[in-house]
Amino acid sequence: MFAFLFLSSRRKDETGNITSENNPALTAKITLIRDAFTAKLNSLGFQTPNTPKIIIKNTPAIISYGPEGLTIPNWETLGTEEKNTFNSWASQTDKGFTGEAFFKKSFNWFFVVHELGHYVQNLKGTENGPSQYQTELTANKIAIAYWKEQDLDGLNAYMDWVNAILNVIPQPNGTSQEYYNAHYIAETANINFNGYFQFYFVQQAYLDIETLKLSDFLQP
Ligand SMILES: [Zn+2]
Repeated sequence: MFAFLFLSSRRKDETGNITSENNPALTAKITLIRDAFTAKLNSLGFQTPNTPKIIIKNTPAIISYGPEGLTIPNWETLGTEEKNTFNSWASQTDKGFTGEAFFKKSFNWFFVVHELGHYVQNLKGTENGPSQYQTELTANKIAIAYWKEQDLDGLNAYMDWVNAILNVIPQPNGTSQEYYNAHYIAETANINFNGYFQFYFVQQAYLDIETLKLSDFLQP
């Protein structure tokens, strides 16, 4: 499994029988993002077979890409524990945004392309290497390279929120590549560890915004 965003501490027996939702409005929104991104890839000469199916479903992984498709969460039907976590993080910043707004901007916008970055990695056969840290960082570099061309103002506004959120999520004991690769499996159920690192990877990817080019990630 790769491309999880994070797992909550919610026990499996409390998740019940999770089924995908019929949610035409959210499906349409995600479809627009997916199709614009794949059209961009095609315009750069990168073919996009097996375009991921869109599944609206709340899972412990929050958002993911895999053989089944692109699994996208819905705030309206999200579990209370996850909602509380995002509301708590948002309320501790001084930016005035809500947990709902941050969640939707993250998982119904920015990270849709992060997950499609994993789809690109999958097509190239690079999704497993050289390390999980690099796989995640590269997915965010793909997302930054794409969003800076499509919506730079939206991206910069989102980065302001990401930077603020990183100041309030409890920090792991290290942020190095070695630390992450050594601990991420043991910490899969730690919402703070995974939340911190995923937004940290976004922040790190953004450092290279001036030089990031989508076409650079599409070479064989
Ligand atoms: Zn990922």
